[in-house]
Amino acid sequence: MENEYDVVIIGGGAAGLSAALTLSRARRRVLVVDAGHPRNAPAGHVHNYLGRESTPPGDLLAIGRSEVMGYGGEIRNGIVTAVHPRSDAPERPRFAVELADGTGVAARRVLVTTGLTDELPDIPGVAEHWGSRVLHCPYCHGWEVRDRPVAILGLSPMSAHQALLWRQWTPTSPCCCTPVRRRPRTSWRGSPGAASGSSRARSPASAPTGPGSPTARSCRSTPWS
Ligand SMILES: Cc1cc2nc3c(=O)[nH]c(=O)nc-3n(C[C@H](O)[C@H](O)[C@H](O)COP(=O)(O)OP(=O)(O)OC[C@H]3O[C@@H](n4cnc5c(N)ncnc54)[C@H](O)[C@@H]3O)c2cc1C
Repeated sequence: MENEYDVVIIGGGAAGLSAALTLSRARRRVLVVDAGHPRNAPAGHVHNYLGRESTPPGDLLAIGRSEVMGYGGEIRNGIVTAVHPRSDAPERPRFAVELADGTGVAARRVLVTTGLTDELPDIPGVAEHWGSRVLHCPYCHGWEVRDRPVAILGLSPMSAHQALLWRQWTPTSPCCCTPVRRRPRTSWRGSPGAASGSSRARSPASAPTGPGSPTARSCRSTPWS
């Protein structure tokens, strides 16, 4: 039937589109429903992806969508609001999938690839510069700030590990900053930024514009730095 699929994939980021490509090539009837807010959207480029190094995130997804549709996979912009198991008829698709626009589809299987949302610390400037000067992963973006001063936000016990890790990219000894709650807000002079989300970001690193930047000055050295 028109609105029945072998697999409905909720989330059309890299994971969802990769699954859709494989399943479409396996001659499954596939629908990807995507809300259009991939986690890495703030970043200028995707790194460490062989064959597509430095591709802008949006371009990578556009290529992926095109590849999926080339094998008959369908992609719909929208938000899945509910998935209900159906047990009325065993031969029918097992799941009813509801979308925010009031439409619905049926699926034999549902694949959830909704990614995660970063929950940023309430520090002015962090949200504004997230993905450009405030970084979560040295392997993804350390090269772009190599040899520049980097500060580690000490938000978890893993921050010490982060501080040591970053020394591979910058000779400047990174320092760990205590959470903003323990210092006066005036120490952080970045532009105001609000953050929200559902998953805690672990020890993001900040790359100040220079050694004398407010962020760098507000750091407190730690024994391991
Ligand atoms: C700033 C930043 C930079 C990064 N850079 C890199 C990098 O260079 N290299 C690297 O390998 N990794 C990088 N990452 C990690 C990156 O986020 C992942 O590699 C990649 O985005 C994960 O893809 P995903 O498909 O799991 O999730 P996402 O890309 O987040 O995609 C999930 C999708 O599901 C959608 N969605 C969520 N809920 C629903 C719903 N109810 N209905 C419909 N759709 C929904 C979202 O809108 C989104 O489009 C970076 C992360 C961040 C934060």
